[in-house]
Amino acid sequence: MTPREFQAYLFDATRCIDCRACMVACSVENQVPLDDTRIWVAGAGITGEYPNLARASMPYHCMHCIQPSCASACPVGAWSKRADGPVVYDSSRCIGCRYCMNACPFGVPHFDWDKGLLDQPLISKCTMCAHRLDVDGEPACVQTCPTDALSFGSRKDMLAEAKARIAANPGKYIDHVYGEHENGGTSYLIISNVPFADLGLPDVPQESVNHTSEVVMSGTIPFALGWAGVLAAVAGVVRLRERGMKKQSAPEVKTAEAKPIEPPSETVAVDAATKEQAE
Ligand code: SF4
Ligand code: SF4
Ligand code: SF4
Repeated sequence: MTPREFQAYLFDATRCIDCRACMVACSVENQVPLDDTRIWVAGAGITGEYPNLARASMPYHCMHCIQPSCASACPVGAWSKRADGPVVYDSSRCIGCRYCMNACPFGVPHFDWDKGLLDQPLISKCTMCAHRLDVDGEPACVQTCPTDALSFGSRKDMLAEAKARIAANPGKYIDHVYGEHENGGTSYLIISNVPFADLGLPDVPQESVNHTSEVVMSGTIPFALGWAGVLAAVAGVVRLRERGMKKQSAPEVKTAEAKPIEPPSETVAVDAATKEQAE
């Protein structure tokens, strides 16, 4: 089998009818309870006043970032980005530190508190149905969507399709493909007729969080090492000065001359008188 191109989803919010078939498909495909699937429907739901109603909902799952912040934050390499798109997780390496949860700007990974830390810890998130991609299939949620609100293919093609729909329907869509650049670019692309915030999407910077942290860390470590060197040098100088001061101020120790001990004459006299009285 020839390796696949870099894959991505395209979600079109104008086509989603909030039927949640994608959630059911995810639950069945991944053998997880419906209230604990790797996908959830986010967004403002029905908004406006009759008859001017609007719907804003989106199947929310891992964005499969091109530079995944979760992978960058993980200290034991439990996360990796596959060449064909999915960001996957190896539970056997996980130590349960949950750095990935804090690092993800989209709030995606969640910790399985039922397993806790005593068992093998488990972080749960969408896998892009990587096992289905391995046999040339597409994600279960995409295959199930009855309105084609979800599509799947090479990221290049999905991006072109998103831009073509925006260009062909002036005024229908917001003129922006969410995920083209957010957090350094993602493999989940979204187009919408309502503000992206109404779909529950955060306003994240274009530069990936891990790129920023790596730039900061690359400057922080040399600075910390340099500063440690300065402190060590100062401590050395202080120690040398203290030793010098101790030498200067130390008193001379003289040996006392030994003198013969004479008995106290008064005491002897008193004792003699006392003896005389007693006699
Ligand atoms: S959305 Fe979060 S969990 Fe998914 S790849 Fe990006 S950083 Fe990792
Ligand atoms: S790609 Fe697979 S794991 Fe991810 S949300 Fe869709 S069905 Fe669930
Ligand atoms: S299956 Fe399709 S239409 Fe239904 S909620 Fe999911 S994305 Fe929307």
